[in-house]
Amino acid sequence: MKHRIEALQTALKERDLPGLLVTKAENIRYISGFTGSSGACLVTAEQAYFVTDFRYTEQAADQVKGMEIVQIERSIPETMGELMVGARVRAVGVEKDAMTLSSFEAFDQASSVELVPTTGIVENLRLIKDSSEIKMIKEAVELADATFHHILTYIQAGRTELEVSNELEFFMRKQGATSSSFDTIVASGYRSALPHGVASSKVIQTGELVTLDFGALLNGYVSDITRTVAIGPISPELQKIYDTVLKAQLAGVDGLRPGITGIEADALTRDIIKDAGYGEYFGHSTGHGIGLEVHEGPGLSFRSETKLEPGMIVTVEPGIYVPQVGGCRIEDDVLITASGREILSSSPKELITL
Ligand code: ZN
Ligand code: ZN
Repeated sequence: MKHRIEALQTALKERDLPGLLVTKAENIRYISGFTGSSGACLVTAEQAYFVTDFRYTEQAADQVKGMEIVQIERSIPETMGELMVGARVRAVGVEKDAMTLSSFEAFDQASSVELVPTTGIVENLRLIKDSSEIKMIKEAVELADATFHHILTYIQAGRTELEVSNELEFFMRKQGATSSSFDTIVASGYRSALPHGVASSKVIQTGELVTLDFGALLNGYVSDITRTVAIGPISPELQKIYDTVLKAQLAGVDGLRPGITGIEADALTRDIIKDAGYGEYFGHSTGHGIGLEVHEGPGLSFRSETKLEPGMIVTVEPGIYVPQVGGCRIEDDVLITASGREILSSSPKELITL
């Protein structure tokens, strides 16, 4: 991954940081290509090392490009300590959001090189997806769409939320997913008012809205989509909630383009929900980036000043959650392009009544 290592070296130079110890699994995968579960990278202005143990050296030889592969003798921190001393750097950054205190102590004791807590350096490089990443995310989204079509034939009054989520996850795995990209949300009836109602033993009943929020982890990349369906006829109030969320979601997707900030993107959906009188029932942000992780930058929220750029992939997922009544969320995965946006998810958004 030569171009990614070079981009990281440029980022380190801009921060006046002589090196970075990369220990977060997704960041290791991003800069080295390694998909195993034990390893770490050290990148300095001059060098790039990938360190692992004997179980993974063969896999590393196959996957890791543009880095010198070093097999440890005793432990990763000890070998890293020797490499840091050998690289003659005064300080090395560590990824403080992805390191335990005991791990920090082990690296710190392994050499006299100063360890500097940092945040978001590799994550920043990951904001803009290259063509190979876009292709893999599209495949994960296609799998989520296929799963939605399948689950429509399965959901019915009398089944529990857990039965639906099990069927949904089993289908994704049968189609090649490593796993679901997060705990599948199946929230029906009064539980649909819970924005993160992970599937429960509740039985789905006629007259309810059912929110399905799920995604596939495929080739290391994720999808994340939400659809809400009706089980038989629903009340006028639930219909109004659905129509409002749909209107907000369509406006949110429509307004996405390069140059707007996360704050502006968030307002695209929030203003419509506020105008309809449901502002207090939309308690989360409009969206987030997806990629190697299901929640990454940029945020589409009232506090995100990051400007959207071509190559970013974000979700647009407004929702309304009224306690005791029910709720609804609709979520697409959207690629920002030079001329605007491309909606990657294609599952229908008009209300489906089962
Ligand atoms: Zn989601
Ligand atoms: Zn999401």
